[in-house]
This record gives sequence, C-alpha cells and structure tokens, in this order.
Amino acid sequence: MESKRVWDWERDLKNMRDYFKSGKTREASWREYQLQGLRRFLVEKEQDISMALMQDLGKHRVEAFRDEVGTVMKSINFALKNLREWMSGQKAKLPQIALLTSAEIVPEPLGLVLVISSWNFPFGLSLEPLIGAIAAGNSVVLKPSELSCASSSLLASGLTGYVDSEAIKIVQGGPEVAEQLLEQRWDKIFFTGSARVGRIVMSAAVKHLTPLTLELGGKCPALVDSLSSSWDLEVAVKRIIVGKYGTCAGQACIAVDYVLVEKRFSSTLVELMKLWIKKMFGENPRETNAIARIVNKQHFFRLQSLLADANVKKSVIYGGSIMDEENLFIEPTILVDPPLEAAIMTDEIFGPLLPVITLDKVEDGIEFINSRPKPLALYVFTKNKELQRRMISETSSGSVTFNDAILQYAADTLPFGGVGGSGFGSYHGKFSFDTFSHQKAVVKRSFLTDFWFRFPPWTPNKLLLLEMAYNYDYFGLLLVLLGLKRPSKRTSLI
Ligand code: NAD
Repeated sequence: MESKRVWDWERDLKNMRDYFKSGKTREASWREYQLQGLRRFLVEKEQDISMALMQDLGKHRVEAFRDEVGTVMKSINFALKNLREWMSGQKAKLPQIALLTSAEIVPEPLGLVLVISSWNFPFGLSLEPLIGAIAAGNSVVLKPSELSCASSSLLASGLTGYVDSEAIKIVQGGPEVAEQLLEQRWDKIFFTGSARVGRIVMSAAVKHLTPLTLELGGKCPALVDSLSSSWDLEVAVKRIIVGKYGTCAGQACIAVDYVLVEKRFSSTLVELMKLWIKKMFGENPRETNAIARIVNKQHFFRLQSLLADANVKKSVIYGGSIMDEENLFIEPTILVDPPLEAAIMTDEIFGPLLPVITLDKVEDGIEFINSRPKPLALYVFTKNKELQRRMISETSSGSVTFNDAILQYAADTLPFGGVGGSGFGSYHGKFSFDTFSHQKAVVKRSFLTDFWFRFPPWTPNKLLLLEMAYNYDYFGLLLVLLGLKRPSKRTSLI
C-alpha cells in the first residue's frame, strides 16, 4: 500500500499535468492505444483477475467474467468503435441573427481527473470510468478500494506495460490516501461508493469548484405484480434470485434490496423463490461456489446485526442460520414483512438477505417507493402496461427495468447513474465520454452580413428588426415582410 511518503503528489501530479498539456493524451491514436492496452490486460490477465476476485470476494470465474471482465471488454470495444465519432463533435444551428455563421460543439478533455472506486466490482467499477476518462483524452489517477486488496494490487502492478504510465496512475490505499488525493486540485472527480464518503468527496470538490460525479447506492426495490403465467413467474423469480444472491452475494449497488408484492400472492412467490434458490445453489448452500463471500468481517458482522433484532428474526422464513464467520459466508435468506423501521428496511442491505414486503394492492408500491429515498435502480415485474406507465411517470429512480434486474448495467447506450440520494451524473458508453469532457461551444462568424440593428444608438425600428430576427426563421421573416403573416403583438405595438 502506498502512503504519503511513497507518492510525491506534487511532483507526480505536476508531471501528469505537463504531460496532459503536451497534447499527447488528446490524440485519437493515443486514446485508442490505451483502450487496446486495457483490453489486452483483460485478455492476458483474465486468469489473474479471476483469482484476485476469488481471493477478495469468492466470486466464481463465470460470475467474474459476466460482471467484470466481459462487461468491461464489451465497453472497450464499444468505445473503440465509436471513439472517432464521439471526438468529432456535432454541428449546431444558430438563430437568423447569425447569418453566415457556423457553429459546433467540440468535446474537450478536462485535464487531470481522479477516479475513486469501490470494492464490490473492483475491476468493473475502476475500469469503466477509466475507459471514459481515457476516451475523452484525460490524464487519470485511479484509486481503487483498499477492501479488495488483491484486485487493487493487480490493477496497480498489472496495468503497467499495458497503458501509458505517464498519464494513467493507479494509487493504492484507504481513506487516508483518498483524503490526501482529495486535497489536490483536479479537473474532475468521479466517485463510486457510499453516500457518507460521497459527502466528504463533495466537500473536498467545493474547494476548487471541481466538477463531480457521485455514483452512490441505496435500496433498490423489485415490485412483483401477480403474474398469472407460470412461465412468466418462474422467469421473474430466477431473475430476482440472480439479481440478489447471484450478483456478488447482493453486495451490489443495483442488487435487488427488497421485494414488494401483493399479500394474496406473496406465498406463491416466496415458495418459488425457495425452489429456485435450491436449484441454483444446491440443497446445501454451504457447498455452493456460486455465491460470493462477504468482503470482510466488518461487513459480515454488519449483516449479522441486521438480523439480531427479535422482531426481524421472527420474520425470517428461509435461511438466516448459516453464518460462517471463518469463510465469510451467509446463506441466501428471505424475510417476510420485517418491521419497516428496522435497520434492514432503512439501510442499504448490501448482502444476501432479502425482505419481502407485502402490500394490499400492487399499486401501493408506488407510494411505498415514493416515501423513501430515490433508488439507483427500480425493478418492476409486470405485463400490465398501465402499471408500467405509472411506474415510469409516478416514481423517480436512476433507472427502471421491467421484468429483469441488473441487465441495465450492461447497456452501453443507456446512462448509468443515480438521482437524489443515489447520486448524480452518469456514465457508460458515450455518457462516460461526455462525463469526462467539456462540451465546448465553437462559433465561426463571417465578416460579412453585419446587421446594423444589433448596435446602438437604439431606435424603435431596431427593436422591431431584432424581434423579427429572433422570432422568425428566414421563411417566416419573408412572409412578414411581404405582409402575408402578422407580426407578433409586441412588434405591432411599436
Ligand atoms: P465507501 O464509500 O466506503 O468507499 C468507496 C471509496 O472511498 C473507497 O475507494 C475508499 O477507500 C474511499 N474512502 C473511504 N473513506 C474515505 C474518506 N474518508 N475520504 C475519501 N475517500 C474515502 O464505499 P464502499 O464500501 O466501497 O462501497 C459501498 C457503497 O458504494 C454502497 O453504498 C454501494 O451502493 C455504493 N456503490 C455504488 C455503485 C454505483 O455504481 N452507484 C457501485 C458500487 C457501490
């Protein structure tokens, strides 16, 4: 782990700034080369990555590929395919008053950016923002989490040789290192983690007015309608089970945190959930290699304590007893109607405990969701088009996915990010590129056609002409001048 002494911040950051100023990182070929290097790192080190993820989190190799290596490779390919188009910016239209003028929006790299990431997807959550930062032409310092130390040290040592170390640095360390980094001046900070630390990051950003993206967490609900087809219901249950226990054992910002279901339908749903937990993870969950381990003892005890309350314990109807401290394993657990004021229903669970909350009517789910902080992700399992419409228009969340969970994360064409308490700003695909770019407005004016009515001394006629120039397109202007169209009220007052 690097400490204050090992990293000479001032010298290194100055060198990185100078390197950025040299223009090297702006070149399209430089950006492509770095992205290709990241891809080669993933291909050549896939086994090491899987081993690190096994060591840090007990993630199965297939899960590691599905959620990290494969997803990041897909994102790199997408960025490489579209990079030159993203870099080329876009033309913009101007009002009539700017006759013979061209305009465009030119994306410009921000400079030296800082990425601080979390431990639950140590490669995915570090490399996804890195792709955006590089694609946009920045120099980057990445600080992965100290809790996933095998993955973080593989990133720090393994990436050397694959990317340009003059512009891309990985700094290892915990809060004390992050705090020192935050004291520096950055052109952008991209943070993934808890709301608590998000606040610390935001107050540090204030000092230099640094633009900030906060990718935070929260409680992601899954509302399940009373699905009548047994096929639909099984598909829904499988997707919920994987969106909870099969995604880093529920230690994911977009994992299903709790389920909402109509009372009359809850036992059907819960029985099917139990069945599919057994089908996916076996009769003896202790033996499964398809559920990740809890990251450390602190989080293990935190999860254990969520069940400690007697009223919460009473609501456990499946699992809840295998809590293997030595192996940091907690079996898939289902609770029905734990007290809503208990920590399990007020705090983000971030583990394999799944409360099922029963409602009188499925529509009551809207009020339930709206009475809590805005979730990062909302899942709704229904074929009812009216309910789908209401969920989109009457609730607020980072994303809403119908009839699946987690899948939205893999989309390069959708913004990934929160709203309200789940964060602000977004990334993935072009959104990552934009997050790490400044959209510069560029106007190129001709020396011809200088409209005299833009300049003082002012007269009523100038006001009339200005108003016409702002309010009509060329065709509309022609119609007014020919008397075929009535000018607006104010114009006619003059
Ligand atoms: P965390 O906030 O404890 O840590 C995140 C990062 O901040 C780490 O790199 C850590 O070293 C650093 N950090 C810790 N204390 C700090 C301090 N005092 N000053 C500056 N930096 C500090 O979060 P975590 O435990 O790594 O992750 C869990 C949380 O992150 C959950 O709330 C989860 O929902 C959220 N999360 C969100 C996303 C997302 O994409 N929105 C993804 C993963 C996790």
